[in-house]
Amino acid sequence: MQRVGDIVKRQIMARKKGKKQVLIDNPEVRKAREMQYRRELQAITKAVSVEIDKFLASHADLLQSSPIQAADAQVQDAYQYPPANIMAALSAGLKSIFGLFTGAPAKQKAEKTAKTMVEGVDRDNADQMTEELKKASGTAKKPALPVDPLGHLTQIDLARIIRNEDLEAVLSIKTAENVALIKTIPANMLAQVESAVLRNMTGQLPGGLNAEIARINGGAMKRAKLIARDQTQKTNAAITQVRNQNLGITEYVWLAHHDDRTRPSHRANDGKTFSWDKPPKETGHPGRDINCRCGSKAILNFDQWG
Ligand SMILES: [Zn+2]
Repeated sequence: MQRVGDIVKRQIMARKKGKKQVLIDNPEVRKAREMQYRRELQAITKAVSVEIDKFLASHADLLQSSPIQAADAQVQDAYQYPPANIMAALSAGLKSIFGLFTGAPAKQKAEKTAKTMVEGVDRDNADQMTEELKKASGTAKKPALPVDPLGHLTQIDLARIIRNEDLEAVLSIKTAENVALIKTIPANMLAQVESAVLRNMTGQLPGGLNAEIARINGGAMKRAKLIARDQTQKTNAAITQVRNQNLGITEYVWLAHHDDRTRPSHRANDGKTFSWDKPPKETGHPGRDINCRCGSKAILNFDQWG
């Protein structure tokens, strides 16, 4: 198959005589896509907290048992130890919750959730890229013909070519990374609950266990929200880079948001040109740093294409 860049460039160059380059907007994450992923991650988080609540209710008697004093009471800050059999029973309870979220059905669910997000971001990315190229090549207003008598690219062709690019590697890496992150949701929550239970039994939780569990649940919901935002951005950024490079686009212009949440190092990149081959040292490419909201414009450089 002809390289996408070779096909698209003919049309764009034919229209842009005299110009050395054209800039097109690179795709951005659709808010609805981020929100969908956030809802799914928060549903998993919520399912873990429901199980934790059940565990706390069914082990209420054990959780209230008083700690025993360390043998060496002479030591001023001697630890107090909960009886070993009680700790073993609580630990087994938490382990069985962990089992619920690491078994085959949970694994399948994590894979499906991650895959749905990555494929959705890819579809949005392809749609936006197709639109931008159509605008640049002047095919946006033409009717989509099955066969273009002039041999030009039709809208249908363009969309098909953009989608068929070789993106397998980046899609499977991003899916695997997100499966791993989804698995950390129950693991993190249960590790925190186990620590809270222990601290409570040794008198180190003056606010009480319930308040601590509420804090853990709240933190986990917030973390799910952060993962959804960060991972949709990172996935889109990685796909954008490959899609640009498949088009023969080697450079981009950095676009930063102009508000106080933007890091100074990212703001300093705003409007500057970078090469896809050489990410800026301090920041990486736009959208790669944690919670980076920066975007880019692809540079269609006719000298490099010609
Ligand atoms: Zn940024």
